[in-house]
Amino acid sequence: MKHALITGITGQDGAYLAKFLLNKGYKVFGTYRRLSTPNFWRLQYLGIFDQVELLPVDLLDSFSIIESIKISKPDEIYNLAAQSFVGASFEQPLASAEITGLGVVKFLESIRNIAPDVKFYQASTSEMFGDNQFTEQSEETIFDPSSPYAAAKLYAHNMVKIYRKAYGLFACNGILFNHESPLRGLEFVTRKITNAVAKISLGLEDHIELGNIDAKRDWGFAPEYVEAMWLMLQQKSPDDYVIATNETHTIKEFLEVAFDFVGLDWEKHIKIDERFMRPVDVRYLRGNFQKSKSDLGWEPKTRFNDLAEIMLKSDIERWDNWSNGKHFAWDAWNYPNEKKILSRKLKLDR
Ligand code: NDP
Ligand code: GDP
Repeated sequence: MKHALITGITGQDGAYLAKFLLNKGYKVFGTYRRLSTPNFWRLQYLGIFDQVELLPVDLLDSFSIIESIKISKPDEIYNLAAQSFVGASFEQPLASAEITGLGVVKFLESIRNIAPDVKFYQASTSEMFGDNQFTEQSEETIFDPSSPYAAAKLYAHNMVKIYRKAYGLFACNGILFNHESPLRGLEFVTRKITNAVAKISLGLEDHIELGNIDAKRDWGFAPEYVEAMWLMLQQKSPDDYVIATNETHTIKEFLEVAFDFVGLDWEKHIKIDERFMRPVDVRYLRGNFQKSKSDLGWEPKTRFNDLAEIMLKSDIERWDNWSNGKHFAWDAWNYPNEKKILSRKLKLDR
């Protein structure tokens, strides 16, 4: 039986990947952080909490990383743990660099020293392309990060390539474009919208506050993207791959589709709030996944409208169940109103 070690198993991708690998017959080990309140809701939501082995790891702590490798004896490591939110990286640039950037090198060094035959997947990101001017982005496009998050990810991305060349590690970077699902964190714009639209449609809220709604993103469906991670590690040799849909849409378009679904006019229910504008934003992303299609046989299936509908249906069902007093694993019911968060950095006047 193959062993997989997933860092960040409590996150969106970690939970879906765990489910995918369990279905493939893997023994799945996942790392989690000790928090004052446990957050295993995604694993519970997918019904796999009892099937995964948990290991306490913080990417700030090299010894916990080494220990996790020694205990799990993995054939494959999927490094999904990160401070993953661009907005927060402007508020905590140092923590983002330590976790999202240096944390990866701690893993690479540990592998080089104690498990050089392990295959390693690194969660790279389309954010590394930054506020670029290209009509689409591929593995060949230059990187020009626009946030502390993207800069930390680019450092990690380059270190993966260096360890591959210098020490012959089987290490791959998956350059994944935005991917969403009903398990997406509530601070990300798609889920923020579907959660709010669900509440508005049920009369629990009146409007949403958003930042730059003209930005364009290439949004795919997370369960399909975790399959691509696995495919990368099944190839003869390690390489880097773009995973995307090659479609791009504005946040306005996402709002239109989401509000249409519940028969409401989006323009009557949104307010633009400077607090959600980033000091620098990435205006346009659209990924070219041709290399993944030809080498991995991977292509996206779920498209924009269907993705919005999947997320909306699930948020509506959750709020409906909650209104009827049902209990189930879920994040939104106790999420703080974002107005409570005072540290947002405003877009600077230039
Ligand atoms: P999430 O934010 O949902 O999950 C991040 C995970 O990292 C959580 O399990 C979190 O644990 C863990 N983590 C955070 N800090 C630490 C730390 N110091 N030590 C150990 N674990 C930590 O992200 P996603 O699942 O959406 O994304 C997975 C990866 O893919 C991330 O690296 C992200 O940056 C990258 N990515 C995501 C994209 C997307 O669109 N989703 C696009 C491209 C790349 P906890 O639950 O305790 O907070
Ligand atoms: P990102 O691409 O990883 O930064 O994913 P996000 O979902 O956080 O943001 C996608 C885009 O939505 C960015 O261009 C944001 O500036 C824009 N956006 C507009 N309003 C909001 C908001 O209220 N929250 C978030 N998270 N993003 C917003």
